Amino acid sequence: MTNEIRVQKYGGTSVGSAEKIKKIATKIKKLKDNDPNEKIVIIVSAMGKTTDDLVKLAYICAKTPNPREYDALISTGENISASLLAMCLIEIGIDAISLSGAQAGILTEKSHSKAKVIKVNPKRIHQALDQNKVVIITGFQGINEHEDITTIGRGGSDTSAVIIASSLNSSLCEIYTDVEGVYTTDPRIVKNAKKLSEISYEEMLDLAHLGAKVLHPRAVECAKTNNIKLHVRSSFSDKEGTIVKEASSMELNKTVTGIAVNKTEAIVSIIGVENKAGVAGEIFELLANKNINVDMIIQSVKYGNLNSISFSIEEDDLQKTLKAANTLITKLHAKEIKTDQNIAKISIVGVGMTSKPGVAAQMFKALGKHAINIKHITTSEIKISCVINRDQADEAQKILHETFNLHK
Ligand code: ASP
Ligand code: MG
Repeated sequence: MTNEIRVQKYGGTSVGSAEKIKKIATKIKKLKDNDPNEKIVIIVSAMGKTTDDLVKLAYICAKTPNPREYDALISTGENISASLLAMCLIEIGIDAISLSGAQAGILTEKSHSKAKVIKVNPKRIHQALDQNKVVIITGFQGINEHEDITTIGRGGSDTSAVIIASSLNSSLCEIYTDVEGVYTTDPRIVKNAKKLSEISYEEMLDLAHLGAKVLHPRAVECAKTNNIKLHVRSSFSDKEGTIVKEASSMELNKTVTGIAVNKTEAIVSIIGVENKAGVAGEIFELLANKNINVDMIIQSVKYGNLNSISFSIEEDDLQKTLKAANTLITKLHAKEIKTDQNIAKISIVGVGMTSKPGVAAQMFKALGKHAINIKHITTSEIKISCVINRDQADEAQKILHETFNLHK
């Protein structure tokens, strides 16, 4: 390659202990031994579950933690792993320096907890690189115009890495994690799931939103916007992982790239509301005001002029949602509210399906053949999702993996 700056990100499990951090240091040393002049920038997450623990501490001390202090606290996990990694490198003879988000010039919005990054001023990063230091940067954090520490949302280190790669004009960002790449589906459920050598941004985005934990959706979005390739790979092996990039014509030959299953949602149905303008707006405005995220929305006309509107939410939000929905019963003269928690959403994703008719039929027929009833269906350009019984989800996942030949 040219003298592009190498950008690598190590996730929480990869830096989960001092021993693991030492291993990462050895890995980085090998790169330096290979090419002493290579410029290397490393972004780290907090060690293991550190951030979760910090969040718990905050809520022991305050019912509603002060936002500024909350960010000041939960950002510290990354400081620990960054300085430890720098120490490990220095110990084995590799010059290194850790930089906090602020020191690395990561400027964010004023708001706390989920601040967006406005820009990166990588002056200090370049200075350190010019001194031939490996630069270790804390993920997840930045600084706002008041010089207060901000965080950019849980799981934000992937996004930090992509944004930093972009500010350094790198065309690739390596994401090191505890799995070997992106799989056709969860290999714990489907034994012959295959590691993908590449996947398009769009497909990865869908899979990430559907719950594939390997990459944060915002990081994928950001990579797509800035045209940065991602290489998702394991911290503890040298095997090639999965490249996330622009869809190529070759990929379009494949109909389905991956299958995702979500088992954490519930469906709420408001039955028998009037079929008139403004009803849906009323319902979803109320939910939005209560900060309840709605995933699928299904409206159907039932008895005469009455509608039923169903929607899916995170199961954790169910009580909150029912409380809100009950206030609507009187207001909208709805007949009743039903809930269904025995659901799973299984989705097939692939850019190739845009140009191939019959994919939906193939999916529905395969499920039907095995007596798996479809409760709801939603589709987008490159995705078809079916809501089925949760206790049939694993079986459905195996069947669809087979149906679309993903093991081949
Ligand atoms: N440590 C942060 C979190 O746990 C950021 C990250 O790991 O990506 O959310
Ligand atoms: Mg993480």
